[in-house]
Amino acid sequence: MCGIVGYIGKRDAIPILMDGLKTLEYRGYDSAGLVGFKGEEVVFEKAVGRVANLDEKIDKHGGFSGNIGIAHTRWATHGGVTELNAHPHTGCNQNIFLVHNGIIENYQKIKDKLIETGHRFYSETDTEVLAHLIEELRDKDNILLEDAVRLALQKIKGTYGLVVVDKRNPYKMVIARNFSPLILGVGKDEFIVASDATAILRSTSSVIYLNDGEIAVLEPDKYRIFNIDNEQVDRTPEELDWDIETAKKGDFPHYMLKEIYEEPEAIKNSIRGRLDLENGKAVLGGLSSIKEDLSKIDRLHISACGTAYIAGLVGEYMIEEYAGVPVEVDYASEVRYRKPIFGKRDAMLTISQSGETADTLAALYEAKEKGILTLGIVNAVGSTISRETGAGVYQHIGPEIGVASTKSFVSQLSILALLTVYIGRKKGMSLVMGKRILDELSRIPEKMERLLKLNDGIKELANRYAGYNNFLYMGRKYNFPMALEGALKIKEIAYVHAEGYASGEMKHGPIALIDKNFPSLIICPQDSVYEKNISNIEEIKARGGIVIAIGTEGDDRIRNLVDDVIYIPKTLEMLTPILVSLPLHLFAYHVGVKKGYDVDKPRNLAKSVTVE
Ligand code: GLU
Repeated sequence: MCGIVGYIGKRDAIPILMDGLKTLEYRGYDSAGLVGFKGEEVVFEKAVGRVANLDEKIDKHGGFSGNIGIAHTRWATHGGVTELNAHPHTGCNQNIFLVHNGIIENYQKIKDKLIETGHRFYSETDTEVLAHLIEELRDKDNILLEDAVRLALQKIKGTYGLVVVDKRNPYKMVIARNFSPLILGVGKDEFIVASDATAILRSTSSVIYLNDGEIAVLEPDKYRIFNIDNEQVDRTPEELDWDIETAKKGDFPHYMLKEIYEEPEAIKNSIRGRLDLENGKAVLGGLSSIKEDLSKIDRLHISACGTAYIAGLVGEYMIEEYAGVPVEVDYASEVRYRKPIFGKRDAMLTISQSGETADTLAALYEAKEKGILTLGIVNAVGSTISRETGAGVYQHIGPEIGVASTKSFVSQLSILALLTVYIGRKKGMSLVMGKRILDELSRIPEKMERLLKLNDGIKELANRYAGYNNFLYMGRKYNFPMALEGALKIKEIAYVHAEGYASGEMKHGPIALIDKNFPSLIICPQDSVYEKNISNIEEIKARGGIVIAIGTEGDDRIRNLVDDVIYIPKTLEMLTPILVSLPLHLFAYHVGVKKGYDVDKPRNLAKSVTVE
């Protein structure tokens, strides 16, 4: 969840590291730190808060230029947010320095032993134990840094993306990963290591994804990869096709707004080349290897976290209604601990933008362990989930930087619609129905473009409602998950307490909350459950509640019933969640901005949750 950057090569390391940290700041941002060497000289700085605070300290070193360094933005798991707890961490002799993402589960035991042998600890982190352990192993027997790292990792239990350097040998860097992302960028006579491809792109598009349990030793002109048992691993670099411009904010005040504006384009990119309109079929090349098995599944288990979980719920409605396959959707964090029952012909679909979400990965491993078919919907090409699933569909939306998922969410919904057709057409969906869904899907980006024109109106609406402390979001059928999505976004971005409910549940509890200070946002397009939602609106109004509705263009009836209405274009019922997303995202965004919050970096959150 934190950001790691490391550089070794011929260029000045510090600007590259600071640039990388700024790109990665969205992943975790409570404190930051950096160490760089130039011969005997060391720049070692840490700062609490944003990367800009570290920048100020680094600036004071003026013309320092070394060719090796490591840097980190922290998302604390063990120990408070303090300068001492910020990374890099070092051992007693201040030779070994390292940055770490993840959790060392057995750190206390190792720490106690190291204290007995005379090590002095200065932080409360689990990470610091690694620095002392590597120091102990390396210095006791005078072994190579890579051997000390490997032996240390054999002793620890936990997750890590790790980058280690030793002041005494400023021409070497050792990196390792286990259940935390770490990508190796391979340039000409240089390497850039990062927990996220966006930090590498500026320097090279040639990357190697380390697998769990792998270690690499880097020297400016060569690298070697091996595993924890010291067996050689052969891996050649792959090309990343992400455009660096996508990772920049441009003229937008926030990444979140930029990415909402990219929603139509994201859908285009996710469906491009995948619509066979003539034959009413979805073309999903990444599933070809499991095509036969997928057409025979008895049940689909969807596992995901956060917004991707909500996308999964929409997928459940789509796939059950149109493909006729039973679907179960679970929080991935629950799958790993409850005892899920998988039939022989079941399949698991994992959904994760980063492809590194720790809980989703654990659910995937559980499914693999049970021997069922696995597939994924993932954005980050080459990420762990994409490699661990038997097959999958890439989102192709470029990097998403805003912490709250926006363009990724609509992309996932559009891919779930494609998957519905893909499976459905093998399970008896008619040609006409296949064509109808795909045809409507192809029109969605243009309808989303139209929705963007509502931005000013939604901003005005958000400004009027920004003073309320509570919201009730409701919807039925396809738009019940969207009620959850709306509530989740406004919680994350604007710190407003919001409940997301299926409209039918209103009378079973939440209606008790309704009064003039508790507005409701009802998603009520003209679909098969329209009249039911209208009744809910009537009931809220009868109790003096305030209602904002999301309705279908041309629906004048709803305008007369509610306080405010946002209109979306007409589309197929199963695709309305895609259109509904955009105003929900804009509303949360503008409430957050009105309240003065940093919507790109909401407090306590981080982009990809790579720890449990
Ligand atoms: N567990 C480590 C800490 O609390 C690493 C956290 C992170 O991944 O940023 O310092």
